[in-house]
Amino acid sequence: MNLDELPPLPAAPRRIYCDRTLNLRALGAVGFDMDYTLVHYRTEAWERRAYEYARRPLLERGWPLDGLDFDPTLVALGLILDLELGNLVKANRFGYVKRAFHGTASLDHEEQRRVYARTHVDLAEPRWVFMNTLFALSEACLYSQCVDLLDAGALPDVLGYEALYRVVRSGVDEAHMLGELKADIVAHPERYIEPDPEVPLALMDLRCAGKQVLLITNSEWSYTRDIMRHAIDPFMPEGQTWRDLFDLVVVGSRKPAFFTDRSPVFELVDEDGLLRPHVGPLKKGEVYLGGHASLVEQSIGVSGEEILYVGDHIFSDINVSKRVLRWRTGLIVRDLEAELSALEEFKPAQAQLSQLMIDKERLEHAFSLARLHKLRLERGYGPQPAEDAATLSARMLTLRSELVALDARIAPLAKRASSLAHPRWGLSMRAGNDKSHLARQIERNADIYTSRVSNFLHNTPFVYLRSPRGSLPHDSGPTGGVPGV
Ligand code: IMP
Ligand code: MG
Repeated sequence: MNLDELPPLPAAPRRIYCDRTLNLRALGAVGFDMDYTLVHYRTEAWERRAYEYARRPLLERGWPLDGLDFDPTLVALGLILDLELGNLVKANRFGYVKRAFHGTASLDHEEQRRVYARTHVDLAEPRWVFMNTLFALSEACLYSQCVDLLDAGALPDVLGYEALYRVVRSGVDEAHMLGELKADIVAHPERYIEPDPEVPLALMDLRCAGKQVLLITNSEWSYTRDIMRHAIDPFMPEGQTWRDLFDLVVVGSRKPAFFTDRSPVFELVDEDGLLRPHVGPLKKGEVYLGGHASLVEQSIGVSGEEILYVGDHIFSDINVSKRVLRWRTGLIVRDLEAELSALEEFKPAQAQLSQLMIDKERLEHAFSLARLHKLRLERGYGPQPAEDAATLSARMLTLRSELVALDARIAPLAKRASSLAHPRWGLSMRAGNDKSHLARQIERNADIYTSRVSNFLHNTPFVYLRSPRGSLPHDSGPTGGVPGV
């Protein structure tokens, strides 16, 4: 068969990326989270609304927050709050801080080096708060703005950056828990939901290919019902609703406790949310509130590695389900689409930048050699160079000025590379040339990651996802590396 005549693979932004090989054919069940997974929100609109509600209790304390607004340019998924210093930082995979803001103001390079030279991010310490989900954006924005106010002496009733975080956190928590925010969302779902008409077919494919399809969400029943109706029902076949997509629906699941604890379960008796306690296995096609993952496993007759759970929260959905139950895990990272497009557009500039970096390495090596030869000449040890000191000095001078000229060409390209997709924080998966802390978290916890659930449609329920050969620094071979001197 002529390979050129075969259907193309899904385009890069819609591909499923694989950290650990996963054969979809081997799965008996696929579970999905709802918020920011099956249903994608217009993040700026949703987070602005959440921000407004979270700010309310702070305004009631008399904090001067009236003029402030949610600013999506300040924050991004995978950043880390430093509660000790009131900073927002981006770290690389080893936890070294590569970019930092104090409140909303940038720390310059020297200051950042001074502050973080001996400190690296360890998420096990309470000092650091990782932004696990897009729901964390409003919180991080509000916190950063409040740090500015605290520094200005405008928040006399709070002692320090950590205490400040507790106040902001409880404001955000309240906003999610009390009914008003959710009531606003379901009153105008079109403002907040970005529908994806392909999601139902993706789920039908999985189900018809023999997998049980589950919905497990922390959202409460009435919110889940209204959101799923809006996001899914318009794209269902005639006479069917979102309920027809699932073998089992669990709302109010309290992840991550859902994966670790054994909470009681309630069965939904009617559409309005009447509940009754339930004992025994969960029944197919029903809706339950609470319960726990082991109960789901027993009820569907599938467990451990035969279950893939797909969610957007790195800790609650992915880390815990894998660690505790050995479920296979998939992470939804919607921003991947914009980032891959930005990378594609930047490709010619990236090629230029890479070439300039190779040139720089060559020039630096030549400079270092000349310097070493001069040193041996002056100190009279080792093999003596053929050239005299003046010639070596002249060569060093020329090389130095060439390096300066090269740096002037590299700087604007490097700046563009570091602000791709997000002017302040750049690509979420990168920290400089290295992987970001977010990328590391994904690599550790998610077997696969992709931009949206409907990518399962484009990759089919039969796909064998193979992890790529891991890259090592020496894979690219010598780039004019250092020979024996
Ligand atoms: P899931 O992603 O479908 O499991 O559900 C996310 C649910 O958690 C949504 O109903 C959110 O409103 C809620 N949620 C997100 N962040 C917070 C929080 O900080 N406190 C309480 N609930 C939250
Ligand atoms: Mg979610």
